[in-house]
Amino acid sequence: MSQEKVKNGDLVIPGQVLGVIEEYIPDKHTTYEKDGNVLASMAGYLEINPSTRNVCVKGTEMTNTLKRGEQVIGFIRHIRKFSIGVEIYKRDDKILYNPIEANIHVSRISKQYIAKPEDAFSETDIVRARVVGKRNNEFELATDSNYLGVIYAECNICGFPLRRKEHVLICDHCGNHEKKLLANDYGRVKEKVIL
Ligand SMILES: [Zn+2]
Repeated sequence: MSQEKVKNGDLVIPGQVLGVIEEYIPDKHTTYEKDGNVLASMAGYLEINPSTRNVCVKGTEMTNTLKRGEQVIGFIRHIRKFSIGVEIYKRDDKILYNPIEANIHVSRISKQYIAKPEDAFSETDIVRARVVGKRNNEFELATDSNYLGVIYAECNICGFPLRRKEHVLICDHCGNHEKKLLANDYGRVKEKVIL
């Protein structure tokens, strides 16, 4: 079985093989040896020192830092009066094993006026958003471009995946109609809840 070799900076998960013992000096705290292999003992970014061949996994500090302008994908966790809480589980197409909490203020949902967050989103929707900054230790996101917004949603009544018909979402199971702030590729994204 051939497996793609992990590289410096890759996101790794516990139990993932990083290489063989001949090529690396494993870090005692974040990796372990088994059957001649070096494996990750925690989730994080792989750090390989090219001259010493020391290998270790850098944890939460790096995984929990987002850059301004970065594109992320997450679930809507909470709908509040003026903001929504998002749990980010993907950044730059890489899964985050320690999800990051972030907020979208109602003023940043769309370039058009949105009175209440629930006019644009529902809990459990999957959204694509852009990182705009950090406030009070929490990341702030925006969905105010065409390619940002909901990319996958399930019916509020029966849980069936919603199909887009122009600007409306339709449930083929119970007939429910919903309106949301949709990304322009809604329904064409291969995005599923996997955690
Ligand atoms: Zn339904």
